[in-house]
Amino acid sequence: MPVKIFYGHVSWLIEAGVDSIFLPRLISVAPKEYICPKFMGLPDMMAAAFPNRARFIAPVVNLTLSPRLFYRELEKVGQGLGCTAKETRKAWDEALAAQKRFQSFLQGGNWPAEYEAEQDRDTESMVTRPLDNPNLRIGLLGHSYVIYDKLASMDAVSRLHHMGAEVLTVDMLSPARIEAQAVRWPKRMFWTSGRRILGAAWEYTEMPVDGIIYITAFGCGTDSLTAELVERTVRRRSQIPQLILNIDEHTGEAGVVTRLEAFVDMLRWRRAR
Ligand code: SF4
Repeated sequence: MPVKIFYGHVSWLIEAGVDSIFLPRLISVAPKEYICPKFMGLPDMMAAAFPNRARFIAPVVNLTLSPRLFYRELEKVGQGLGCTAKETRKAWDEALAAQKRFQSFLQGGNWPAEYEAEQDRDTESMVTRPLDNPNLRIGLLGHSYVIYDKLASMDAVSRLHHMGAEVLTVDMLSPARIEAQAVRWPKRMFWTSGRRILGAAWEYTEMPVDGIIYITAFGCGTDSLTAELVERTVRRRSQIPQLILNIDEHTGEAGVVTRLEAFVDMLRWRRAR
């Protein structure tokens, strides 16, 4: 999460009256890979910013260590909530199954908000779908907590849909394809999110997409390297136009809209030719 936004989310939860906040200390979620270092420090940063305002439940998630240690961390969380080891393990298995269902749903070309709507048929989807026959296809890159957040992304997805473009995200691609593409990079990318973005960028260059947009937000440290690698690689491997949209607290909405409109116009012009 862009850390600046994260402070706001925690503040909102505390104001809403919660007394415990689940905030895992994420170090590694895949073998031989790491999460951005800012995630490791989040529980400490929040505890320092909101002293005695909420209890932070912060199990360490580090899959570079043995699974036994990971389950021991889970059991500690369960104990704190009054659950036996067996109950904790069962809850973990159910959570994992739910996560897999959600990921398969996204890989079907769907959006997170549509999943919520599918679970609760009374909730109307927040996603504006493109026209029945979108006349452009755009591959979107960026951290999921940026591109799915209407504020952090300045609602770029809905804006593109309104302009008649179909939008693909990293989550819609097959994980096996992303991994197969990621291993083609000469040097192993050890950040999990960066690896997924690089693999997806390479995959887009082999797909019929009209353009690629990379949304980076709030001075992201890992994106400063990944965006550069993506830009060079896409340019070397294809003629696909790219737009890097850097959004922070100083970005004006009108500027983002203008850049998106200009990019989409240019893609249409190219296609017409
Ligand atoms: S620096 Fe980038 S990858 Fe790290 S937490 Fe912030 S947005 Fe996420």
